Amino acid sequence: MPVVKDFFIALSNNKFMNESAKKMGPALGANKVVAGVDIDSTIDTVERLNMKGISCTLDNLGEFVTSRQEALEAQQNIVEIMRRNYNANIDAHVSIKLTQLGLNIDREFAYQNTREILLKAHEYGNTFVNIDAEKYEDLVGTTEIVDKLKGEFKNVGTVIQAYLFDAMNIMDKYNDVRLRLVKGAYKEAPHIAFQTKEEIDKNYIALIEKRLLTAKAFTSIATHDHNVINHVKQFVKDHNISRDSFEFQMLYGFRTDYAYQIANEGYNFCMYVPFGEDWFGYFMRRLAERPQNINLMLLDIFSEKNKGKIAIGASVLAGLTLLGIGGIAKGKKK
Ligand SMILES: Cc1cc2nc3c(=O)[nH]c(=O)nc-3n(C[C@H](O)[C@H](O)[C@H](O)COP(=O)(O)OP(=O)(O)OC[C@H]3O[C@@H](n4cnc5c(N)ncnc54)[C@H](O)[C@@H]3O)c2cc1C
Repeated sequence: MPVVKDFFIALSNNKFMNESAKKMGPALGANKVVAGVDIDSTIDTVERLNMKGISCTLDNLGEFVTSRQEALEAQQNIVEIMRRNYNANIDAHVSIKLTQLGLNIDREFAYQNTREILLKAHEYGNTFVNIDAEKYEDLVGTTEIVDKLKGEFKNVGTVIQAYLFDAMNIMDKYNDVRLRLVKGAYKEAPHIAFQTKEEIDKNYIALIEKRLLTAKAFTSIATHDHNVINHVKQFVKDHNISRDSFEFQMLYGFRTDYAYQIANEGYNFCMYVPFGEDWFGYFMRRLAERPQNINLMLLDIFSEKNKGKIAIGASVLAGLTLLGIGGIAKGKKK
C-alpha cells in the first residue's frame, strides 16, 4: 500500500511532529520497539539479550540535527555509550548516523566528529562502529567519509541498501570492509531506486550471495524476512560458507521469538537496539515498512495511560482517517 508508506515517511520527515514527540517520551506503541530513553535501561536490555546469545548494536536516536552544538552533543553521547558498554562488559557496539554528527552542516566537521568516535573506540576495546545508511541525498557524503575512515581504522563499517540501482557497485568497493546488507528504509525516486518488493528482494538476494562468496570481511544480513533468511541458510550450506563470516540482524521489538530461534540454531545474531528521546522518526519509518504495526499504535493511543499524550496520536489518527487507513489497519490481524 504505497499511500500508507508515503504517509508515514512524510511523518518521519516532519520536524514539528518529531520535536513534539520528543517531549513526551516513547508513545503510540513505540515503547515496544525503542529500548528506553536512557543508557541504563538500554544496558539492562542488552544484558538480557546477551544471555540469550544475542549481541547488540546500539543506536542513540537523533533526527534533524542542525547545529554544531547538537552534533557535538551527539558525538559525546556516542562516546559515553561506548564507555558504558565497555565498563559493563556487555556484547554491544554502536550504530551511528552521520546526519546526527553534522553531515548536513559541514562534511569535514562530520568527518572529524566520526573520527573522534573511532579514536575513542580504541580506548574501549576497539569496539566496532557501524555507519548507518540514510537518505540517498546523504549517500555521497557518507561514502566519502567511510572511504577516508576505512584507510585509517579497521573497526568501521557501513550499510548497503538493496533498493538502490547502484547498490552492487557500492558493495564491491567495500569488499574488505564489514558491511550490513538491508533492503532500504527510505522513500527514493524511481530514477534512483527499485520501487517494487519483487525487484528489491531480487537485488537483495543477489547482493547477499555475491558478498558471502567474495567478501574479505564480516557481513551482517539485516532483515525480518523469513524467505531471505531461509534462502541464506540453504545458500551457506550449499557453498560451505563459514557461519563465522556472517550474522543475521533484526530490529529490537520485531519478530523476537524468531530472532531467539535463529540464535538457538547456532547462527551469529545481532539485535539493533534503538534508544533515546528522539523516537518518532524511527518509529514512523517502521510503520511505513509494516502497516500491520498501526494496530499497536491504535491500541496505545486509546489506552488509559496515554490520555495526556493524545495530541500527537490524534494528529496521526486524523491523517490515517483522511486516507481511510484506520479502518483497514483495525481490520488486519497482526
Ligand atoms: C538490523 C537492521 C538495521 C537496519 N539498518 C538500516 C540502515 O542503516 N539503513 C536503511 O535504509 N535501512 C535499515 N534497515 C531497514 C531495512 O532497510 C528495511 O527497511 C527493514 O528491515 C524492512 O525490510 P525487511 O528486510 O525486514 O523485510 P520486509 O520486506 O519489510 O518484510 C518481508 C516479509 O517478512 C515478513 N515480516 C517482516 N516483518 C515482520 C514482522 N514484524 N512480523 C512478522 N513478519 C514480518 C513479512 O512476511 C514480510 O512480507 C535496517 C534493518 C535492520 C533489521
